[in-house]
Amino acid sequence: MTVTKTTNIHQIDGTEEQIKAINGLSQEFDVTTERLRTITDQFVKEMRRGLDHDGATVAMIPSYVSGRPTGDEVGRYLALDLGGTNLRVCEFDLKGKGDCSVKQQKFVISDELKTGDMRDLCDYIADSVDTFLTEHCSKPGPNEEMLQLGYTFSFPVLQTAINRGVLKQWTKGFSSTNAVGKDVALLLQESFKKRYLPVNVAAIVNDTVGTLMAYAYCYPETAMGVILGTGTNASYYEKTANIKKWSEQENPAGTDEMVVNMEWGAFDCERQVLPLTMYDNKVNRQSRNLHQQLFEKMISGMYLGEIVRHAMINLIDQYLLFNGESSPILNKQWGFETAYLTAIEKDKTENLDETKEILEETIGIPSTTLADRQMVKKMGEFVGRRAARLSACGMGGVMMQDDKIGQECIIAIDGSLFEFYPNFEGLLREALGELFGEEAANKVRFALARDGSGLGAAIIAMMAHKQQQQQQQQ
Ligand code: ADP
Ligand code: MG
Repeated sequence: MTVTKTTNIHQIDGTEEQIKAINGLSQEFDVTTERLRTITDQFVKEMRRGLDHDGATVAMIPSYVSGRPTGDEVGRYLALDLGGTNLRVCEFDLKGKGDCSVKQQKFVISDELKTGDMRDLCDYIADSVDTFLTEHCSKPGPNEEMLQLGYTFSFPVLQTAINRGVLKQWTKGFSSTNAVGKDVALLLQESFKKRYLPVNVAAIVNDTVGTLMAYAYCYPETAMGVILGTGTNASYYEKTANIKKWSEQENPAGTDEMVVNMEWGAFDCERQVLPLTMYDNKVNRQSRNLHQQLFEKMISGMYLGEIVRHAMINLIDQYLLFNGESSPILNKQWGFETAYLTAIEKDKTENLDETKEILEETIGIPSTTLADRQMVKKMGEFVGRRAARLSACGMGGVMMQDDKIGQECIIAIDGSLFEFYPNFEGLLREALGELFGEEAANKVRFALARDGSGLGAAIIAMMAHKQQQQQQQQ
């Protein structure tokens, strides 16, 4: 009898079964070049569907932001950022020539607020703005002009004007009641009114759109704004002629181009091309938004640690990891943070000491072997790499739609996953290279636009306010 030994391609110092298990996971999480192409083609199809009619999977929402910033915008504007880990309130002093200064304060959004009544959430936001203005800025007097605010609200909102928009659905763990189907700008404006706060919600801004505008303030040729943080999404300039679902009445300004908020996290909810594993299905099943945002659930910071957690538990249950022992932290949903993947991926010590500390001290696994730690590191690597390759499909889809292949192209990206996960940019470029060739991939610049959405929201509030003033004068 011949015994074939499993090839130890991932160089795990473990048993034959452990090596086999890792080889299996490597395949499950692999996105081949061919699959990259299939997904990207499907992406373009879904984008076009979204541009053609309402109610498509990738919603392709017109943002009512049409101009490009010149960099010469000036003035004081407020910005709010809701939809990430914290609520941020900022005041930007735009100084022109792409220059600005900022004051900001962060406020914690409790789980209670995320899942309670929307009125309470809006009241909390208004209180936070009040606190910020009292502590950091000066409030306008009764005869002075109101402060103009750009409201970064990073959930799918169907906009009907720059400052009007109805929430389609919650994502990223929010589920406040009395919000879906309502105008989120009006709800917040009401809370300001109750407190006699002289603040006007001048614009609703998606964070992708804010990121795009903020980077375009310095580099007008920026083509896309992408978020790779708690969630994932993107926006880009589309020709209004291509937004076929729009009648002429809906484009009163008659602009040639407009920023479209793609809401790409919802891509392929029909499960036609995404390489979903059993771990993805578990994450989905236990989430607050079942069967929605499947693309986002394979890519963004909120979920990557959770995918790895499920993969670890599965191996523990087969006695292939940690000698079959888990820990109360690891057994709990969200018990394994995506930030650990970054730390583990960065761990270059021979004995994987950093990884040992995370697993044993932070997570509470009784003891780990070198093989255990190598396996966890590999799982993180597979899941991180897959996230980068899938997001590259979205970017590649936009480049195809926007005729950007082979051209110089700046993609402005905000989010901790892109900022901190080792070599995320390299992985993105590699995937784009497989799609369009190395030369074309090298013409793309991935630019970190840290917390760009705030500045973008301030710029958009300024543009909206100017437009409004012009209309009033006419
Ligand atoms: P937000 O999207 O909420 O505005 P971030 O861009 O900071 O904020 O993204 C937060 C998400 O990024 C969280 O889901 C978190 O798990 C993840 N994250 C935080 N730190 C890191 C890190 N060092 N490496 C990878 N992911 C991280
Ligand atoms: Mg953010």
